[in-house]
Amino acid sequence: MSKKVRRRSYVAAIAAMLLLPATASAQCGGAQGFGSWLQQFKGEAQAAGVSARALAALDGVRFDQKVINADRRQGVFSQSFLEFAGRMVADYRMQQGRARLKKHAGTFSRVESQYGVPGPVIAAFWGLETDFGANLGGFSTLQSLATLARDCRRPDRFRAELLAALKLLDRGDLAAADMKGAWAGEIGQMQFIPTEYLTTAVDFDGDGKRNLVRSVPDVLASSAALLKKHGWRGGEPWLEEVRAPNDMPWPEADLAIKHPRSQWAAWGVARADGSALPADSMPAALLLPMGRLGPAFLAYRNFDVYTRWNESLVYATTAAYFATRLAGAPRVRAGSAKAPTRNQIIEVQKRLEQLGHDVGGADGIIGAKTRAAVKAVQMQLGMPADSYPDPGFLAALKRM
Ligand code: CA
Repeated sequence: MSKKVRRRSYVAAIAAMLLLPATASAQCGGAQGFGSWLQQFKGEAQAAGVSARALAALDGVRFDQKVINADRRQGVFSQSFLEFAGRMVADYRMQQGRARLKKHAGTFSRVESQYGVPGPVIAAFWGLETDFGANLGGFSTLQSLATLARDCRRPDRFRAELLAALKLLDRGDLAAADMKGAWAGEIGQMQFIPTEYLTTAVDFDGDGKRNLVRSVPDVLASSAALLKKHGWRGGEPWLEEVRAPNDMPWPEADLAIKHPRSQWAAWGVARADGSALPADSMPAALLLPMGRLGPAFLAYRNFDVYTRWNESLVYATTAAYFATRLAGAPRVRAGSAKAPTRNQIIEVQKRLEQLGHDVGGADGIIGAKTRAAVKAVQMQLGMPADSYPDPGFLAALKRM
């Protein structure tokens, strides 16, 4: 899962903590002048306590246009949940996931007892991020981060990441030669960004180093530590497929709205096999990643942790669904939802903007703001307000 940039709110806070004086960010740009920019950055990193040995790892780092191209190209989350999950939760990945759970059963069990995060949850992230460590990415982390720190898009954030990567070298967790990964500077088998690596990774095999490239125990425990930091509640579920009746109060189906499971049961929501939900107080949201005609899930409090790991709803739902499959749930029912194309999504977003709604930019991705705007217009039009811009919604929008 290398072609993405994770966006996590708490990362901004860490970045602020690590931030260098904001002098070099004023000089953002491209390849031209990169050498002198890097020299200046080195001076500031040295002043921030980075050793000469770690700074030497920046020798030979150049401005990498491939990184910029990749950054401008992110489009994977225009896919629908069923499309993305179909590709990412393929049979071979299920087999691999089960095999890893078995092979590392002892470690998974120790990790769960220490952090409260079940093995299938961690294994699913492991599979999605790097195919269980098989696909770490071949970009030089320092070169990627230096390029993105020089680039004008988000220079301050990536300067903080570059500084954190140098501090990892100083701490001895990784050798410079092992600092290879995704184009956006994520490192190791779980694709940690350097700031979260620096603040959250743990040594679980007892060798004194936090090695997220080569040590499976470090990888699994560090992931659990990150999930726990994001609020994971041990012993609670995260996602469960359900069936929703046709006469639901659809506006209640919104990730931002949680009800006790008893309320969902009262509205006629049942387990995927048709059996009754427990009529208890466990809070959950009704998640319809593709609207009321597509798959339906109860998203429990732990699902919020997924959206902190990666704010893409398609990614979060896929990771949570993959974990339920590894924990024994059957394949999701596809339903009959029609997914909009990327161009249709952009068309919907532009039209919503014209109507005065904030969709967070017409980017072809159905994010939280787009869903909220869709829901508002659906309610205005008296349509079932399931927050999903299917082709029928686009047609109604054009008639407005
Ligand atoms: Ca270790």
